[in-house]
Amino acid sequence: MNSLVYLDYAATTPVDPRVAEIMCRHLTLDGIFANPASRSHMLGWQAEQAVEGARRQVADLIGADPREIVWTSGATEADNLALTGFMRANRGRGRHLVTSAIEHKAVVDTALTLEQEGFEVTWLAPGRDGRVTPQALRDAMRADTVLVSLMAVNNELGAIHELAGLAEVVHAGGAAFHVDAAQAVGRIPLDVKALGIDLMSLSGHKAYGPKGIGALYVKRTPDFRLDALIHGGGHERGMRSGTLATHQIVGMGEAFALAAAEGEADQQHIATLRDRLLAGLADIDGVHHNTDTRVAVPNIINLAFEGVDGESLLMALREIALSTGSACNSASVEPSYVLKGIGVPRPLALASLRFSFGRFTTDADIDKALAALRHALEGLRRTTT
Ligand SMILES: *Cc1c(COP(=O)(O)O)cnc(C)c1O
Repeated sequence: MNSLVYLDYAATTPVDPRVAEIMCRHLTLDGIFANPASRSHMLGWQAEQAVEGARRQVADLIGADPREIVWTSGATEADNLALTGFMRANRGRGRHLVTSAIEHKAVVDTALTLEQEGFEVTWLAPGRDGRVTPQALRDAMRADTVLVSLMAVNNELGAIHELAGLAEVVHAGGAAFHVDAAQAVGRIPLDVKALGIDLMSLSGHKAYGPKGIGALYVKRTPDFRLDALIHGGGHERGMRSGTLATHQIVGMGEAFALAAAEGEADQQHIATLRDRLLAGLADIDGVHHNTDTRVAVPNIINLAFEGVDGESLLMALREIALSTGSACNSASVEPSYVLKGIGVPRPLALASLRFSFGRFTTDADIDKALAALRHALEGLRRTTT
């Protein structure tokens, strides 16, 4: 066992033991291991049944029809398929894509690649609270806009977009709406029909499922098309070829069923943890909130600690697993583009840490983190002043 306190749930969550148990039953000879595309024997049908059961579990969480779920290797691939697949398939209608400057890299880098391909991208600047307003979106819409991509919950800030209001603007402009909801599953309600979402990216491992599996929700109407990015046997109605990863898929299905059943209770528990952390920090000087907690999920809070360097603080907090910026850029020392994007001054952006909690975080974890933080800040501030 390790004595590390894990406060990096936004980077990935541990697999729920109930999920791991089901996955194990879909791997070995005595389990359901066959190829779900094998039509010639019973074992293949059983695997197909397992995959279709999981497809329904994922669809149910987001109010979709199971036929609207396309399995992918994760939310990164789902984002790539949504943006590139949709822009290419709808080239004849227009070449304009709208997104924001603080999307996940899976969207940002895909949009940059589309620019190389001759598409045009408008990069919306969010407000200080990490959200794009419907008015800002309305101003960016053009006659040739075919797709708008905005995330449900920002992975560094926790900021929640008002999806229904944004969807209205998108549809009034005749475009389609893609939402990266990797951080939103089990955190906020995600009914695609009620919210007006046409494409939605999902990930297993941000919601207590396994890594390496995700899905793209693709609205099912006659005129709605995507070009495939991965070609082969024509799986997933031709949108994504490749043998389905049965064990990953049943794991993601179970994780999503648990999110539907327990997500709200999880978030209530987590809100008490965040309040405990904030109460414990109240008497420490120079703590700035990068997260606007009024519009954010309770499981992510990004804080800046004036007068210290985030990397040094992280080093001093060895017994706490945390990240500066997002996990994906912790190798570089540049301030997070997300914090920059909402206007956090560079010195504060470099002094920021993201705390993220989850289903298995305890009061004792928070108290340990607070004690370590207090100790580390005292040490670092003493040496720098
Ligand atoms: C983690 C994450 C992704 C990438 O998901 P993978 O399943 O790891 O590919 C995409 N978008 C957001 C917002 C994320 O948090």
